Amino acid sequence: MNKFTDSLESELKALETKGNLRQLPHIRHEGREVVVNGQRMLNLSSNDYLGLASDRKLINDFLRTLRNEEVLFSSSSSRLLTGNFSIYEELEEQLASLYGAESALVFGSGYHTNSGILPAIANTRTLILADKLVHASLIDGIRLSAARCIRYRHNDTMQLRRLVDEHHKSYDYIIIVTESIFSMDGDEADLTALIELKHAYSNLILYLDEAHAFGVRGPHGLGCAEEQNCISEIDFLVGTLGKAAASSGAFVICRHEIRDFLINRARTYIYTTALPPINIQWTSFILSQLKNYESKRNHLSYISQKLRKILIESGYSCPSTSQIIPIVVGSSTDAILRAEEMQRKGFYVLPVRPPTVPEGTSRIRLSLTADVTEKEIDQLINAIRE
Ligand code: PMP
Repeated sequence: MNKFTDSLESELKALETKGNLRQLPHIRHEGREVVVNGQRMLNLSSNDYLGLASDRKLINDFLRTLRNEEVLFSSSSSRLLTGNFSIYEELEEQLASLYGAESALVFGSGYHTNSGILPAIANTRTLILADKLVHASLIDGIRLSAARCIRYRHNDTMQLRRLVDEHHKSYDYIIIVTESIFSMDGDEADLTALIELKHAYSNLILYLDEAHAFGVRGPHGLGCAEEQNCISEIDFLVGTLGKAAASSGAFVICRHEIRDFLINRARTYIYTTALPPINIQWTSFILSQLKNYESKRNHLSYISQKLRKILIESGYSCPSTSQIIPIVVGSSTDAILRAEEMQRKGFYVLPVRPPTVPEGTSRIRLSLTADVTEKEIDQLINAIRE
């Protein structure tokens, strides 16, 4: 046993030497701010993009809708056993109706959704073409599947087109896997090009992860596909509920045959306890208000654009077109130093390092939320420039 733990320890030491050791931060949350090591900072590392998670009025409004005898904190079972409360199906109908789609299926998290759907739908006669920068949950789903996978260069639709052309006759289906807003670079997939490609071949399937766009983009906050008026073209549209929707869980919007299939085949759906009913009720409450948050979405878009513009003018390369704004530093140790410097100035930003991002592209990742004021953005800009 000692030998085993010694080997783990030496691996941890190696991570530390490279500046890649991860440790849990001790954080006290106070609304938009966090207190870490006694220092109060504006939280610029949260995915609470609409600023709803600590909105006490909203929370109290929700609590008032509950009848005491209905409150349940556990589903106590998988949905296929006794965990299928009616509110689950109501939430799925609500989601399907928001998207004007046939059906929706709710999973325990975005990680469960991506790592469960891909192995369920892809077999040895499937080719997966995935963007080089897709999230770990998608990569794990691909790894768990029996399909061959080729990763195409980030957002390189020319290369993707060549790969489709070369391989489409050798496989029953080709699944193209991408995010709409990418989690670490904050840039966007070219949905128009992907849909054009889908129209040119009869066996292409589009799998789109809208984790960072759900709630944020589109007239009703449904994501980039809504914004670009192409929801019906996406075969698997995944949204997560733990980010802008201030809840937890995730969903896929799909055809009803797909939903039925996933209920039978997605192991991360079948073999896990369903989310607590109280969580489903809260999600449903938030979703019923989503269309009303247009001014929050507009403000978020405005401050994000302002920050991106000034970063570019100051000489930073900034691929982002969204509220996720990375400042790429290079080495992990430099990213740590830069994050610490920003924290001393009152902004809670964190270094993002390999394996989350490719080697040599360590960065600080600014994640703006709708409750950040324009004045705070100006202060942030001064802090970055100093
Ligand atoms: N997809 C993407 C693109 C993500 O960034 C994340 C989480 N950051 C997930 C999926 C996983 O979602 P969840 O946190 O709900 O597991």
